[in-house]
Amino acid sequence: MTKRRRTYNLGLIKATLPYSVNEITELLGVHKNTVSQWFEDGLRVNQDKRPWIVRGDELKCFLGARQNSRKKKCRLTEFYCLKCHDRREAYLNIADIIFESPTKLRLKVICAVCSTRMNKVQNTNNLEKIQAAFNIQKLEGEHIIECIDPSLNSDNGETK
Ligand SMILES: [Zn+2]
Repeated sequence: MTKRRRTYNLGLIKATLPYSVNEITELLGVHKNTVSQWFEDGLRVNQDKRPWIVRGDELKCFLGARQNSRKKKCRLTEFYCLKCHDRREAYLNIADIIFESPTKLRLKVICAVCSTRMNKVQNTNNLEKIQAAFNIQKLEGEHIIECIDPSLNSDNGETK
């Protein structure tokens, strides 16, 4: 579950001004915990003196990048690589599929650039598209699907 994030009016931020945390909370109407979270997420802040100072251009750039990345959704064959910090395709388009519930499956691949493991959850409705788009190497947990689809469940009368 991703929390819905707000879109901030970056026009309010003057690139040439320094901002304290309090000024940011007032300017953008956010809680100071939100600003602390931004620091954790990589917003640069000058902590030499109190109050801590954020440069306007840094703030603009940080929030801008974040708001942009939200718009760009990964395509089916793209994954977010935590090491590359970017969207990447799967190595040789090889993927493993692990069914996690009747509606959810997890796609597991390796980053084509740095070989880091990447994965994402997809709706099982997309299974056909996924099978067409990837070289599926392994399927795990298909029984989860079979349980709910009576047409696939002909050899035993198990009902759930
Ligand atoms: Zn990578």
